[in-house]
Amino acid sequence: MNFHVSTKIIVVQMFFTCILRGMREKEVEVYFDWAVQRIGGRTWKFTSPGRKGVADRIACLPDGQTWFVELKTKGGRLSELQKLFEMDMMLLRQNYACLWTKEQVDAFITTVSRDSR
Ligand SMILES: [Mg+2]
Repeated sequence: MNFHVSTKIIVVQMFFTCILRGMREKEVEVYFDWAVQRIGGRTWKFTSPGRKGVADRIACLPDGQTWFVELKTKGGRLSELQKLFEMDMMLLRQNYACLWTKEQVDAFITTVSRDSR
């Protein structure tokens, strides 16, 4: 009986942890989309059928730069497939960034804006 109750509690905790984490990552993603649009760029949700681990967003900036951007929530980690995608991007000399917070999104925007001058 005790085991049954604690199992339910753990399941409920995991459920809310997943929802809150998911919301926070979505929040960072929405903020990233807004921040890129604010400087005149556009982002698109990136999915690649049959290929897991690709970045969450492709961002096209007004100066011609294209970035592959992974958004995470605080404490979020890259999966092995996401690490492979990051390595592919580095080897192909593409622009890749992984951002965990809104502050990092702001820093990213400042850096890419400065680099385009
Ligand atoms: Mg993500």
